[in-house]
Amino acid sequence: MRLSQMLFVTLREDPAEAEIPSHKLLVRAGYIRRIGSGIYAYLPLMWRVLQKVSQIVREEMNAAGAEECLLPQLQPSELWKESGRWETYTKAEGIMFSLIDRQERELGLGPTHEEVITTVAKDMIRSYRQLPVNLYQIQTKFRDEIRPRFGLMRGREFIMKDAYSFNEDEASLQKSYDAMDQAYRNIISRCGLAYRAVEADSGAIGGSASQEFMILAEAGEDEVLYTEDGNYAANVEKAVSLPKDVEKSPFTSYEKKETPDCNTIEKLCQFLQCSPSNIVKNVLYEAVYDNGKTVLVLVSIRGDQEVNEVKLTNELVKLAPQYQGNTLLALTIPDENAQKKWTTKPLPMGYISPSLEDDYIAAGEYIETKFLRIVDQTAVDLENFVTGADETNYHVIGGNWGKEFQLPQLVCDIRTAMVGDRAVHDTSQTLASARGIEVGHIFQLGTKYSQAMGATFTDENGEEQPIVMGCYGVGVSRLAQAAVEQSYDKDGIIWPVAIAPYHVIIIVPNINDKNQMEVAQNLYNELNKMGVETMLDDRDERAGVKFKDADLIGIPYRVVTGRSLKSGQVEVVTRKSKESQEIDLTNLVETLRNWVKNVKII
Ligand code: ATP
Ligand code: MG
Repeated sequence: MRLSQMLFVTLREDPAEAEIPSHKLLVRAGYIRRIGSGIYAYLPLMWRVLQKVSQIVREEMNAAGAEECLLPQLQPSELWKESGRWETYTKAEGIMFSLIDRQERELGLGPTHEEVITTVAKDMIRSYRQLPVNLYQIQTKFRDEIRPRFGLMRGREFIMKDAYSFNEDEASLQKSYDAMDQAYRNIISRCGLAYRAVEADSGAIGGSASQEFMILAEAGEDEVLYTEDGNYAANVEKAVSLPKDVEKSPFTSYEKKETPDCNTIEKLCQFLQCSPSNIVKNVLYEAVYDNGKTVLVLVSIRGDQEVNEVKLTNELVKLAPQYQGNTLLALTIPDENAQKKWTTKPLPMGYISPSLEDDYIAAGEYIETKFLRIVDQTAVDLENFVTGADETNYHVIGGNWGKEFQLPQLVCDIRTAMVGDRAVHDTSQTLASARGIEVGHIFQLGTKYSQAMGATFTDENGEEQPIVMGCYGVGVSRLAQAAVEQSYDKDGIIWPVAIAPYHVIIIVPNINDKNQMEVAQNLYNELNKMGVETMLDDRDERAGVKFKDADLIGIPYRVVTGRSLKSGQVEVVTRKSKESQEIDLTNLVETLRNWVKNVKII
């Protein structure tokens, strides 16, 4: 492409709307333009990058035996009602855009496609002989994210590759899942990115495996905990570890103590001269189930630990049937205003004990009138602990389970693993932390959707069984931006060759110099003919401006038809290393072709 004929606009200043480097650079370099909150135009250079990423995804999916298709983005609400997700997705989580058509029918704009694909499977799969199959598509998804931000990283309209496997049993699902795992590793490596595969939270669907693929970058929204031996890596939402050892309690007998203005762990430790690990901390949550039922949850955990709300949510979802619900809609720490809605008297916040009386809860149609008491394993092992006295400005010391306090029935792991904790697989290893951008997620779904929607097949013994499913997503647009987040310098983007919009940019320092122009045009034609994707900067601009723009847009190789033409050479600069060399015109096309040849050309 000739720059003189392109819509080519670069900005010298960082756009006010952008916070992270990749977002700033993509806007400045003219790859994307914001149209609305979480809505972007992919301009021609970006579209080329996205097509390259898509093509790599496509090749790896095909190689793994998956078949490409294209599913509708407009999805009838009936499908989502069958799976039981319509209310949650449109109202509770509110992630799905929904609309009513002129016939008064409800529709949703696809945030994901389990419902659609399961309907297809239900219609078309009859026998085990048709299994396994894996269908994928590369398409725009719509999600009304609470916090759209960072450009393409968290958009409300974005490009995803989603795949769905259909298998006859768990063993077969495992094979499909493993094939996707390998395909994802290939995709990310081929795009030229450094990544880490991590154990991920599978939500409340139960025991199924799930893994995320994280691009390591400071600006990542996710925290990854890992060990140096390479044997453990997990999203902090899911991570497990051994907590630090408890310090021996300095208290030997049970006593109520006045502890004025000690409503935080720090103040309390200072006042009582004890360690946070001697304290049983009690955190109050308000859980709302999908049938509107509110349950007050009292979590007891060791004072130096934090509650992991993802783990807690999973436990609460498991309990949904106990409250006649299916799933959890919301989990919050109630502030004073929220407390007023259900308390009979003010709560002793900061001084609560594990035995806080149920009579704090006012009876009401949608309120469970007893606290749901949960204790984290870390608090179970404590002896002679400190905890609240259920009275403002008072704590108790020297408390014990089974004596002054009844151990809650529900004991679970709901603590957040932390940097420095010992690893479970090898206690000589400690957890380190890194930031990551989630670009892919593979997931063993099991029979959740097939069962809800009646997608069954007849097995070898003639028995009808629900199809076992897996789902696999890659954020194509997020991955493209993540590449920039991992690879830039003060002058601009440094694209990995495999996904760069063009391989080479030829700069003509002076377009009025006939020789410079002629050589550049010949090279431009020849390189493109040989499959080296080349742009020609033939704009009537100063050479300095052209060099700056070339650095900013991040094309891997820059060819300059300048002074060295006299000796039959051109200058070639590698964007990444900034190394410059003079190459004979006669060798140039061949040399560049070799440099980019390992990269499949689309
Ligand atoms: P996140 O936790 O970041 O919201 P998710 O768990 O909702 O992601 P999935 O539903 O598994 O994501 O979607 C598959 C992939 O699609 C993700 O791994 C991510 O790369 C991408 N993705 C998800 N939401 C967005 C978004 N709002 N904008 C861009 N890409 C997204
Ligand atoms: Mg999400």
